[in-house]
Amino acid sequence: MASIETLHGPVDTSQLGVTDYHEHLYVEPPSWLHRIDPDFALGNVEKSAEELRSWARAGGQTLLELTAVDFGRNIHKIRAVAEKVPELHVVVTAGYNRPYYMGRWLYAVSEDDMVRDTVRDLTIGIDGTRIKAGIIKAGSEYNNFGEGARKLFRVAARAYAETGAPIITHTSGGTMGFEQVGFLLERNVPAHHIALSHMDRTIDPGEHQRIAALGAYLGYDCFGKAKYGPDSALVALLRGMIEAGYGQHLLIGNDLGRPSYWRSYGGGPGLDYVLTRFVPRLKEEGFTQTEIDLLLIENPRRFLSRDTPPR
Ligand SMILES: [Zn+2]
Repeated sequence: MASIETLHGPVDTSQLGVTDYHEHLYVEPPSWLHRIDPDFALGNVEKSAEELRSWARAGGQTLLELTAVDFGRNIHKIRAVAEKVPELHVVVTAGYNRPYYMGRWLYAVSEDDMVRDTVRDLTIGIDGTRIKAGIIKAGSEYNNFGEGARKLFRVAARAYAETGAPIITHTSGGTMGFEQVGFLLERNVPAHHIALSHMDRTIDPGEHQRIAALGAYLGYDCFGKAKYGPDSALVALLRGMIEAGYGQHLLIGNDLGRPSYWRSYGGGPGLDYVLTRFVPRLKEEGFTQTEIDLLLIENPRRFLSRDTPPR
């Protein structure tokens, strides 16, 4: 039996249930980033807990909190939010988000030190707590897989070699996914231990199938974010990927890491959008309960269990 580290210790992956593969519950972005874009600061424990509660009421059971240290992870605040909704499993992340957020830190810190910190977060605890991360993160920039990103992905691959924790990447605008998987495969990370985030920012079924054929998972998380396109396009994308035989390679989240996305902070569509609005839409459009369970329960359980590759 496989288990995954959560805020409250290891949980058997058969217990995870409905899982959101990519969210942020509390974010303290670096001050330079906050000046440019103040809409990254998810900084209110009560409001974040209120939103998280709405997601639990809608049927959510396990949430992956993918705020890496360079984007402003505060493990004490994440824990404070999660403790207000104790019935949920929350998995937190080690590793690094992307070169842009790293800034000068990317070059000032040695690769060995970054590996050491990542492995410590996965095996001992984060920032003096006993909370262990369950995920390793790495990311690259838009249409670019340069030396900065390569350093983050080398760190992820080395931390993987020491821990076996699954890797979830950040793609910028859904680009460089194929390159990310190829780079990790060359460093002996099995494809079915890799998931790529934000792939539905560029809806290209052929490209998505090319990546899924390598064996990796693709994360979709643009539901209800009309600025990136309508939900109808995502319904068609999901249907097309399932028809092409890649239904087992898909993970669903919403990546609502901005106060303007959360009702409790005065925005929308809200953390429960996928469960209260998008899933009913899938049913209306002819998706079976088996297909919906595959997306929300079976695929994340298989990915986090790190045992069997998807078919
Ligand atoms: Zn995110």
